[in-house]
Amino acid sequence: MFDYLIVGAGFAGSVLAERLANGSNKRVLICDKRSHIGGNAYDEYNEHGILIHRYGPHIFHTNSRDVFEYLSRFTDWRSYEHRVQASVDGQLVPMPINLDTINQLYGLKLTSFELEQFFANVAEPVEKLRTSEDVVVSKIGRELYEKFFRNYTRKQWDLDPSELDASVTSRVPTRTNRDNRYFTDSYQAMPLHGFTRMFERLLDHPNISVMLNTDYRDIEAVIPYKQMIYTGPVDSYFDYRYGKLPYRSLEFKHETHNVEVYQPAPVVNFPNEHLYTRITEFKYLTGQEHAKTSIVYEYPRAEGDPYYPIPRPENAEVYKKYKALADATQDVQFVGRLATYRYYNMDQVVAQALTTYAKIIGTKRQEATAAIAASATKMPTIVTKTYSLPSPMTISTNGAATAAARAKGASSEAA
Ligand code: FAD
Ligand code: UDP
Repeated sequence: MFDYLIVGAGFAGSVLAERLANGSNKRVLICDKRSHIGGNAYDEYNEHGILIHRYGPHIFHTNSRDVFEYLSRFTDWRSYEHRVQASVDGQLVPMPINLDTINQLYGLKLTSFELEQFFANVAEPVEKLRTSEDVVVSKIGRELYEKFFRNYTRKQWDLDPSELDASVTSRVPTRTNRDNRYFTDSYQAMPLHGFTRMFERLLDHPNISVMLNTDYRDIEAVIPYKQMIYTGPVDSYFDYRYGKLPYRSLEFKHETHNVEVYQPAPVVNFPNEHLYTRITEFKYLTGQEHAKTSIVYEYPRAEGDPYYPIPRPENAEVYKKYKALADATQDVQFVGRLATYRYYNMDQVVAQALTTYAKIIGTKRQEATAAIAASATKMPTIVTKTYSLPSPMTISTNGAATAAARAKGASSEAA
């Protein structure tokens, strides 16, 4: 008998599996319908030996010390501050918009003080910042909004920024200094040997069994367990009782080029040209040295894997109904980006999972994480080097060849 069946082996599911097994000696079965662990953060070596992120660029950043220290038990880090350029008016300029963006774009030589004045002159007064359009035009005016935000957002979400919550474009700041980092969080680093290796370590515990290629619906009736942790889409769990919650999808087009460097920045955004939103060159993110280079294009799609909850009031209303159902469903915890319908970054999902664990064991998050810190033997290690020969990752799990065989194996083990 398993104490927990965990649905989904992304950050939410894997952190909870680790905590329940390691922290509470529970027996855990974690399943994922995909053929790998790691959820959307999964990375792998492609046929050229280049480490890529299958589901688009994942950059780790957090202000939460306990999240960073917790993950540091399972990985060393490579120091990495992310930088993005936007292709606007035939130039590549820093994004988020900063002093250099404006000077380069308009051929000016403004100082920071003068840029503040510039923004104040072009900004449109907005009484209440409600939408993603309000956030931008109230700070930098309509012209810059149209050049950098309007069309990118329409492409990404198939909605006008005026139809999306303020929180979406609020993710991208505007600066009057020359700081060209995408994030300003206190901790910015990439797992030294990749996310998948980190997930392997999270799940490497004798109490944890992993079943891949397995939809939980195919096994829930045959495998005895006491409680469930569910990290898939919440509307799917309840058979779309209140209709489909909209999630936005992407199609990824991966390419490898026979050159060492493809583009001048880790990510180039295309607000106004092309059907894709951005191109990412992975070697910048991973620090890998290789004679070739791999990139990915992101094409926004309505159909496909659910990647982004869509933050707007009508969706929040539908989610509220599902949340009421979820809250009333005893013995199932709903955790993660899809199950709580939140546009969360990786660190926020880890924090949510740690909070859920604290709740399960009847304590506060701070106390639970203090206990982890006290038992930790390893402090964060951050290196700055690049590396040329990373050891290849093997995905070792306890799963057998097919879902059916695994289900049978797990149930006989449980018997
Ligand atoms: P997921 O990783 O989605 O895991 C859920 C798992 O549940 C999936 O593997 C799925 O297969 C499985 N599942 C679903 N239904 C079932 C079922 N019925 N049976 C079995 N298994 C099921 N965050 C950052 O911090 N930095 C970034 O740079 C960043 N970039 C991103 C770029 C893109 C393109 C996307 C889409 C997301 C990005 N994120 C980033 C967000 C990050 O991916 C998420 O915060 C995080 O991966 C969510 O973890 P999760 O465990 O909640 O969900
Ligand atoms: N955005 C934009 N132009 C850009 C970058 C971002 O309009 O050059 C908007 C867009 O709506 C996007 C949101 O800001 O979806 C959040 O951007 P972020 O880079 O955080 O998106 P993510 O990495 O989550 O896809």
